[in-house]
Amino acid sequence: MGSNTKVSKADYYEVLGVSRECTDQELKSAYRKQALKYHPDRNPGDHAAEEKFKEASEAYQVLSDADKRAAYDRFGHAGLGAQGFGAGPFAGGVDLGDIFGDLFGEMFTMGGAPGGASRGSRTQRGDDLRFDMTIDFENAVFGIEKEVKIRRLEMCGVCNGKGSASGRGPSICSHCQGRGQLRYQQGFFSVARTCVACSGTGTVISDPCPACRGEGRKTAEVKLNVKVPPGVEEGTRIRYGGEGDVGRVGGPKGDLYVILSIRPHDYFERHGYDLQCVLPISFPQAAMGDEFEIPGIDGPVNIKIPEGTQSGKELRIRGRGVPYLNERGKGDLIVKVLVQIPRKLNRAQRELVSKLAESMAVDNKPTSPGLMEKMKDLFS
Ligand SMILES: [Zn+2]
Ligand SMILES: [Zn+2]
Repeated sequence: MGSNTKVSKADYYEVLGVSRECTDQELKSAYRKQALKYHPDRNPGDHAAEEKFKEASEAYQVLSDADKRAAYDRFGHAGLGAQGFGAGPFAGGVDLGDIFGDLFGEMFTMGGAPGGASRGSRTQRGDDLRFDMTIDFENAVFGIEKEVKIRRLEMCGVCNGKGSASGRGPSICSHCQGRGQLRYQQGFFSVARTCVACSGTGTVISDPCPACRGEGRKTAEVKLNVKVPPGVEEGTRIRYGGEGDVGRVGGPKGDLYVILSIRPHDYFERHGYDLQCVLPISFPQAAMGDEFEIPGIDGPVNIKIPEGTQSGKELRIRGRGVPYLNERGKGDLIVKVLVQIPRKLNRAQRELVSKLAESMAVDNKPTSPGLMEKMKDLFS
């Protein structure tokens, strides 16, 4: 794999060596095995091992999340959204420390190599942001690129994110000696309290930057190009790694999630990747058949009503539906024809229809609904 991994990513199940039906427990133990084997602390300087470790972590991160796993099962890597946007979803987005914390507890942090997972360092990651974007039905079908303005916390340009006027940056809090916590005795118990002097960060800024009041960040409006791929559906989430708020005093950036909502179409409804609409036709069209064009989502669609079409019949026009998300091919267009029975006839029509009635008598004999269903299937 090596440099190929970016072009075609390895299958997550294969990476962990588990089946597609594996349980959470199997997943966890498969990941633990891989992570123990390839952990950077155990393979210092081994880039191949590091790659494997990252791959396994990424696979586990996705498959251990029920929603992500479902999306991955359905759409593959493409289903996870935000792929192909500069910084991919995992470009620095996965907090390995988190996975480790959950899985192994203290295991690696005791004696772990310096510069490993940044747990315990007190820089705070910025917040993740959510941006709700409403797009037209057609935009969801064909995709769209849209420039949006978002307000987020950006690094303060005056102090370069350091938070201090002199540029010295934060110094160790003398109140708690940098621990961020104060311990005191209460009866038999030793109680820990978050240090109020540094709000638990362990550091204080003695000469706060006047522009950001020592935060190292300021609210700003930024423009972002949101790229919506064709085939997205209501609620699709696009993740932009590192496009959220910047952290306090130089902390890493959070992520931005763009959540899509889609305006309804005048007459098309989506059912997965199929489009559905209802089409009224007249009795003569149904009886004798007809051919004409209707406007489809992607241009005129030729409709052929076969002779003797029953009301409620569905015509399936292949490949004229919604493009599959990040895959080749499209769903179908399903046109349900409804034969219109006129509520009122004028004189001339009445004469014509009564002539028709003479030659078109129906046997008005009751039939069981079940049998009727079978007949419908036979003739539709
Ligand atoms: Zn500042
Ligand atoms: Zn303190």
